[in-house]
Formats: sequence, C-alpha cells, structure tokens
Amino acid sequence: MKNFDYLEPTSVAEACALLKQHGSEAKVFAGGAHVTILMKQGLYQPKALVNIKKIAELKRIEFDPAEGLTIGALVTHRELETSALVRDRLPVLCEAEREVANIRVRNMGTVGGNLASGEPLTDLSQIFIALDGKLKITGPSGQRTIPVEELFLDFYTTSLADDEIITQVALPPLPPKSGIEYIRFSSSSVVDKPSAGVAVRLSLDEEAVRVGRIVLGCVGPTPVRARKAEALITGKKLTAELIADAAAMASQECSPSSDLRGSEPYKRAIVGTLVRRALAAVYQKAL
Ligand SMILES: Cc1cc2nc3c(=O)[nH]c(=O)nc-3n(C[C@H](O)[C@H](O)[C@H](O)COP(=O)(O)OP(=O)(O)OC[C@H]3O[C@@H](n4cnc5c(N)ncnc54)[C@H](O)[C@@H]3O)c2cc1C
Repeated sequence: MKNFDYLEPTSVAEACALLKQHGSEAKVFAGGAHVTILMKQGLYQPKALVNIKKIAELKRIEFDPAEGLTIGALVTHRELETSALVRDRLPVLCEAEREVANIRVRNMGTVGGNLASGEPLTDLSQIFIALDGKLKITGPSGQRTIPVEELFLDFYTTSLADDEIITQVALPPLPPKSGIEYIRFSSSSVVDKPSAGVAVRLSLDEEAVRVGRIVLGCVGPTPVRARKAEALITGKKLTAELIADAAAMASQECSPSSDLRGSEPYKRAIVGTLVRRALAAVYQKAL
C-alpha cells in the first residue's frame, strides 16, 4: 500500500472542503469494508483518505410522521439490523440486514458506503428504491436531493462527484394498505453476497394496485425497476395468473451475467420466482 494522508474532519462542510482541496486524489472512508479491500488490491491508490466517522450528525436514525424514516450515512448495517425504531417502522430493513454479509462486515460497513460503492451485489438499494427513497447529498456548493435510483450509473459507478458526500437516506411513510417484501437468494457455494435480490412494494386502492414497485438487484450493473411488470399490475386486482405474468415479465427486465453465482438463464429464473413469491406475499399483507 502506498503512503497517504489521513484526514479526520468533524463536520460535513469540513469534509467537503477537504475533498474539494484534494480532488480525485482523495477518497471518503466510512467503515472501510470496501475501501480497504480495494486499497490492498492496489485498485484504489488515494493520496488522501477522508475518514468521516467523526461526523456525529451522520450517525442518526430518526422518524417523523410526515417525513418518514431518515437514516444517516454512517449508520452501520448492524445498527440498522438492531434498531428498535427501524423494527417498529420498517421491519423489512432489519430482516434484510440479518442476511447481509457476516457480523464483522455488518459491524464495519455503513449504509452510505454500501450505496456509494456502487457495488452491484448488495441489498439495501433495492429496498430503498421500492420505498421511493431519496438521498441527501452535500458538496462544497450546497445540498441536493435525488431519488436513490439516480445514484447508480454502472458497475461501481455513481452520480456522486468526487467532493460530494451522502449524508442520509430519507424513506417517506407508506400510505395505508401498503406492504413491502425483500427476498434475496444466495447460491449455497457463495455465502456472502446475493445472486439476486428482489424488493416488491405495493400500495392498494381497495383491492387494486395503486402503486407497484418491483426492484431487481444483483442481476445487472445497477439495481433496476421492472417498469413493464409494474405497469402490468397497476390498477388491477392481483390474481395468481397476473402475478405469474408479471414475474415472467420482470425476469426479462434485468441483465444478469453468467458467473460463479449462476448462469444468466438460472438468474432470470430465480428473479421470476422471487418476484412471484414477493408479489403474492405483499398483496396479502396489503389487503
Ligand atoms: C465479504 C463481504 C460481504 C459482503 N456482503 C454483502 C451483502 O451480502 N449485502 C450487501 O448489501 N453488501 C455486502 N457487502 C458490501 C458491504 O455492505 C459494503 O462494502 C459496506 O457497506 C461498505 O460500507 P463502508 O462504510 O465500509 O464503506 P467504505 O469502504 O468506507 O466506502 C465504500 C465506498 O463508498 C465511498 N463512501 C463511503 N461513505 C460515503 C459517503 N457517506 N458519501 C460518499 N461516499 C462514501 C468510499 O469512498 C468508497 O468508494 C459485503 C462486503 C464484503 C467485504
């Protein structure tokens, strides 16, 4: 590993100023679960590491009835998994976190790092997108807010500028008659990262789907909404036949590659199965 400057700002403004000063030669360091591996492999050779762990305001989880749940970028996987507030408001996140990596990575890795890495084999982004979550991002010239979906551009590539920091994820409250389910599948030979992960959220009007979100993860360079399948179910009561049609459609709306986690047709079949199960489960919950 090459020598680098190690910087520890105590505010978001200070962190952004340091990032601006060092330009593309600096890297944000949060839990380090991802950065450390890439530095050891020589894939990242930053001249400065900006460790944001001392910025207390990024560690909060809060709930407001109008705004919903806000999760600071430095909240760790383990804190999300064990938070009583999250369990009360969005238990799907606690359940999903229980399957993320292993306890060591969950203790280190943060929500902000999970998203900002742009790593495709992850779990949280699918759920955040299904909930219509928004990311708050701060840079030297101020704040901006984007839908979580707009963060992801390609494999390990996000829309963050070099001097920007994700500060929090905001998840709006779900309307009445809503439900969400996240199901991930890992092949038995690879325990750590998912082969596919599907988040489905439905909000109903009587028995018909008013808002349907079907988000597919780990089966392409970025998480993707299965928009054709979403359109197929919107405005309709779900039957077993419609659920099967939507699941088959969703399985064609991703772009999995064949690798050690499974062949492309195998992953599409998994996606179809997960969407079918998730749609059926969420519909029953939301009715
Ligand atoms: C063995 C292993 C198994 C894993 N399994 C899973 C899994 O099953 N599911 C899953 O979802 N994930 C999994 N991961 C990924 C893991 O969750 C992430 O690596 C972790 O969350 C990254 O968080 P971090 O705080 O350690 O990020 P860091 O390593 O500190 O940073 C990651 C990247 O994000 C940038 N960054 C960090 N925070 C911010 C911020 N607030 N604003 C802007 N940029 C920022 C850094 O510059 C860097 O580029 C696994 C990782 C490992 C090593």
